[in-house]
Amino acid sequence: MNACTRFLQHRLFPLAQVFAIAAVALLPLSSAHAWGEPHLAITKAATEALPDWQKELLGPEMEKLASKYCLIPDEVYTDKENAKYAAMPEARPGEVYLLNLHLPDASQAVNLDTLRYFMGRAVAALKAGQTTDAAKYLGTICHQVEDYGSPSHTVPGDNMFTLLTQFLPPPDDMKGLPMHGPIENGTLDVKIPGYKPQLLGLSVEEASWRLLHRMHEGILNARQTTIPILQALYAKDTETVKTWQMKAAVVDAQVTADALYTVLCLGQERGDPAELTALRDVDIAGFFPIEAVNLYYPQSQFAGSPNWGCARSGFLMEKGTRPVPLKLIAPGPTGDGTTTETRELARGISVVMGKTLTFPLPKNVYGRFTVLAGLHPELGAKGRVEFTVLGDGKPLTSVTVNGTDPAQLMTCDLTGVSSLQLLAKGRGVDPKANYAIWGEPRVGKR
Ligand SMILES: [Zn+2]
Repeated sequence: MNACTRFLQHRLFPLAQVFAIAAVALLPLSSAHAWGEPHLAITKAATEALPDWQKELLGPEMEKLASKYCLIPDEVYTDKENAKYAAMPEARPGEVYLLNLHLPDASQAVNLDTLRYFMGRAVAALKAGQTTDAAKYLGTICHQVEDYGSPSHTVPGDNMFTLLTQFLPPPDDMKGLPMHGPIENGTLDVKIPGYKPQLLGLSVEEASWRLLHRMHEGILNARQTTIPILQALYAKDTETVKTWQMKAAVVDAQVTADALYTVLCLGQERGDPAELTALRDVDIAGFFPIEAVNLYYPQSQFAGSPNWGCARSGFLMEKGTRPVPLKLIAPGPTGDGTTTETRELARGISVVMGKTLTFPLPKNVYGRFTVLAGLHPELGAKGRVEFTVLGDGKPLTSVTVNGTDPAQLMTCDLTGVSSLQLLAKGRGVDPKANYAIWGEPRVGKR
């Protein structure tokens, strides 16, 4: 019996209710690294969003998850007994402090391996009835999720802000002060009432991949908060500091709730059948490919055709200066290829020529990839582009489209593919017109 059918056999569990949230105990400021006390408040808010059956399953471990276990990765040198719950002895022998449990700067592959490992351990412990072990592994997962969404972990390679403070110099009375702790620490009363955690997958393989992309949303959210917090710290405006910290903490709590909810569902093979439908296929237009190192496109990813630009999600850059909506001549409503319609696309990726976009995929989860490949009908009318979809470096399918042609619906079999790549190459006489679009890219289950 596979995971899907087991999920379907279970009854719906009660919807997450709006819980009365107990006041978070006032705790002293401490910890110069990694959210410090806010870890506790964020984890507590996340556990309170879980459905009753999950709270009952965790029992007394629920309180410990939020008061102790979510700090395990920070305390590996002092709490030797629990350090093993934040270690990967087979894959990373001898590493006591796993840096990427705290900072998101490692590659997607490394971060995904880490999530997959700890989710796998937590699910296995739950299946074996070892709730305490499971809760400790969950503590490590909470920590990683929360640290990635922390306002102090937002600038790649500059976690102590020696570079950022060159752009934003402190006032004289704060010169030379380490800013990591002040940016993220404080007494935060985090609440996410009414938030219904999302099931991220029917297997650890699928769920860890979806969780990583959820965490990317948390990172982008946190990046918006760092500079306002720093400016407010300089201005001694503690209320504004807290407002921005809360903006990061609330999203962090939501992503943490998704992670906890998903692991507990997988450990009990229990879930809401309606959630299966939502997992059948995934829009990847907003996902970051590995070329967007640290979730932005470095200049090495810029190219001269059709303009000096890089890939963009959701719009294209006319002549490198003006953002315009994505538009394609798409197959019409008859669906049989006899009609076409020009339409704007909310979801898609505009690309430059000759630069590959690589999306790591979970193994044996998705069976097909679909995408509309075409050129913007006005800007790209004189262009001609070859679109190629590759799986693990081998071409799966390829089409060449003229600017005046309707977009082609490309469909590929993803069986066994763990790395999906999209590559567009100019094949025309006017490279300035190669406004190519990968429209509505989706991976789906068979
Ligand atoms: Zn940390």
